[in-house]
Amino acid sequence: MSEIITRCAIIGGGPAGYTAAIYASRANLSPLLIEGMQPGGQLTTTTEVENFPGYPQGVSGPQMMEEFRLQAQRFGTDIRLGVITAADLSQRPFRLTLDSGDTIVADSVIIATGASARYLGLPDEQKYMGMGVSACATCDGFFYRNRTVAVVGGGDTACEEAVYLSSLAKEVYLIVRKPFLRASKVMQRRVTETANIKILYNCNTKGLFGEDVVEGAHIVENAGTPEEKHFDIAIDGFFLAIGHTPNTGIFKGQLDMNNEGYIAVESPTTRTSVPGVFAAGDVSDPIYRQAVNAAASGCRAAMDAERFLLED
Ligand code: NDP
Repeated sequence: MSEIITRCAIIGGGPAGYTAAIYASRANLSPLLIEGMQPGGQLTTTTEVENFPGYPQGVSGPQMMEEFRLQAQRFGTDIRLGVITAADLSQRPFRLTLDSGDTIVADSVIIATGASARYLGLPDEQKYMGMGVSACATCDGFFYRNRTVAVVGGGDTACEEAVYLSSLAKEVYLIVRKPFLRASKVMQRRVTETANIKILYNCNTKGLFGEDVVEGAHIVENAGTPEEKHFDIAIDGFFLAIGHTPNTGIFKGQLDMNNEGYIAVESPTTRTSVPGVFAAGDVSDPIYRQAVNAAASGCRAAMDAERFLLED
């Protein structure tokens, strides 16, 4: 097992990580970027990206991420496939363990491990991924103009996505497992006052159907009660909005985090509670979760790391 020594280790191959790499390599930090299990990050699970500035015709998520990657490589970033399985941030230099067994010894660390959308866990979600199943209405809603879609969830995200989709789609079902919405009052009102949103309370999705793409969902209402009822809805798109989980498991107990596990940063910087460790992108952003924001915070993280190393 070998030791890889670097001034700046970047964990995560999404927009935040690659942008941090572009800036860090141009600042002569010779960064090492570990791409993680899903190189390209969440954007590789979306189809067309139409809201990232600089792509007037849109671009596919994987294509855009490949271009980010090439740009980071162009300036000399050492990009490696692999997963960090453990981190010791208790003293400097920091030590990161790769799944290969190798150890990275780093003077600074930029965490850009992102967040993962939660799914219901139905096999059909995998089957129709990108073929009608999405976890991002802002990314994919445009493809459902004048179609019928469903959003799962009863929180602010679900309500926001339902309202957003209602301006594009013909009809929006909001599938809520409880008899009420958890969202803020203002969001609840917006949903209930939108004519083409139909709320299905006490409902859960049992499965999806369709030949090649999603054509409908099997719903159960009041499951496990005498009123239990099964029915199908015809839909073209199925949007999950049941929350996100930040990918911060290996840093628990080592960095300050909020209740949901998002890494706390000294905003507007990307400094975490451990000097020399920075966080960028969705891993520290429970609110905006957009690639352009992730990229911007990746830039800030690299600049913060550069400043830290200069002052060191
Ligand atoms: P939340 O955790 O607030 O809501 C998740 C929703 O998904 C809940 O209604 C929950 O149901 C439902 N859910 C969870 N698991 C399942 C499941 N297995 N099956 C069916 N339904 C499920 O997540 P959000 O992403 O909505 O919000 C996260 C945070 O971000 C919140 O604090 C929110 O207020 C904030 N936010 C703020 C916005 C704004 O201010 N504009 C916009 C978006 C988010 P149940 O209620 O039964 O638990």
